[in-house]
Amino acid sequence: MQYGNCVKPKLLLLRNIAQLLTLTLRSGANGPRRGASLSDLGIIQNAAVLCLAGKIVSVGTTKDALRDPWLSKNRKKVTEIDCGRRVVLPGFVDSHTHPAFTHPRLVDFEKRISGANYEEIAEAGGGIRSSIDGVRKASKAALTKKVSAVLADLAANGTTTVEAKSGYGLNLESELKSLEAIRAAAHESPGTVVPTFLGAHAVPPEYSGRSQEYVDLICNEMIPAIAQRRLARFVDVFCDRGAFSAAEAAQIFTAAERHGLAVRAHMGQLSETRLGPLLRYQPASLDHMDHVSDADLPALARSETIATFVPGANYFLGLSKYPDARRFIESGVAVALATDYNPGSSPMLSMPMAMSLACTHMKMSPAEAIAAATINGAWALRVADRKGSIEPGRDADLAVFDVSDYREIPYWFATNRCAQTIMNGVPSGHLSK
Ligand SMILES: [Zn+2]
Repeated sequence: MQYGNCVKPKLLLLRNIAQLLTLTLRSGANGPRRGASLSDLGIIQNAAVLCLAGKIVSVGTTKDALRDPWLSKNRKKVTEIDCGRRVVLPGFVDSHTHPAFTHPRLVDFEKRISGANYEEIAEAGGGIRSSIDGVRKASKAALTKKVSAVLADLAANGTTTVEAKSGYGLNLESELKSLEAIRAAAHESPGTVVPTFLGAHAVPPEYSGRSQEYVDLICNEMIPAIAQRRLARFVDVFCDRGAFSAAEAAQIFTAAERHGLAVRAHMGQLSETRLGPLLRYQPASLDHMDHVSDADLPALARSETIATFVPGANYFLGLSKYPDARRFIESGVAVALATDYNPGSSPMLSMPMAMSLACTHMKMSPAEAIAAATINGAWALRVADRKGSIEPGRDADLAVFDVSDYREIPYWFATNRCAQTIMNGVPSGHLSK
């Protein structure tokens, strides 16, 4: 779907909604959802939503909407969508994806099946490094086409806001090319894309054994060039055993701060890293979080940093252990869910599948999984003033699911029940009756 070919209706009315999940709190409290508030979806039964020029203007029952004198007078100007007693919720906010790559990693897939682990695959020349070649050789147009296709697939599964990382170029030229491809794809998409620079994804082969020199290159050349071109909103670091140390992450965060970029990190996927030294940089999110010390949870809970779980990676790597979501939620940590879409550890585009894994393997309730995939994803990208909830003034980003109860969304796993998305007021296709 091309934005240029879509007509943005000025006035759009969605009516006959069985359950509208507004993700707004009756108390009016603001901030990321924590503890019990993670389960409060702000449901309106028999609902309607009115949008004007890409923004939500009113939310209520269908009965009230149809009785509204202003709406009755202007009915001819309104594009109406009869939602046919389906469920409508905010479009998912997928706050962690790596779409700028060229090829699936099928050799790694087979190697893992026959028993090799993540680090053994990396040592054998597979893993992240095998995607670098593809990106360095690819044209910007080819990368743009790939990212555009990913954005369209994500939208078809109900995702309307996507964080998109670079991180398979790992030199100045190819990181710029990746971020420019993300920008070009975002431009063509009716949805919203938040770009992140992930030069610190791995040490590229030409810097093998000289990681400090590569970190200096990131800090002194890549971050300034990216900030100057406004190609990224965030700087991300893969901080883990075999990747970058906490001290290297701190150096990169300091450079990001100096250039006005916010930060986030891949943390605790393979081994435990203490969070204290990095929380000082107020990261928007720390993602994966499989291995986190109990001693770090109170400080994390007091911070605005979101702990983002990506259970698709645990699933695809064939792990029996998943992050202990209950421990985080009960400690008051704000949690989000994302796909971690990438060719090595999570070739998964579906937020409902991430939610289903969170329910079955991490013991999150369906309501908690939905809040983690919408409003808390928006907090993780610092766009919660526009995204992740359905209330007047927010962007008209909605997903219509072909179910009559929201719990069916994670229940019918591995089947796409998203019937339609509305992105910035632009509806995709038509709902079948
Ligand atoms: Zn990732």
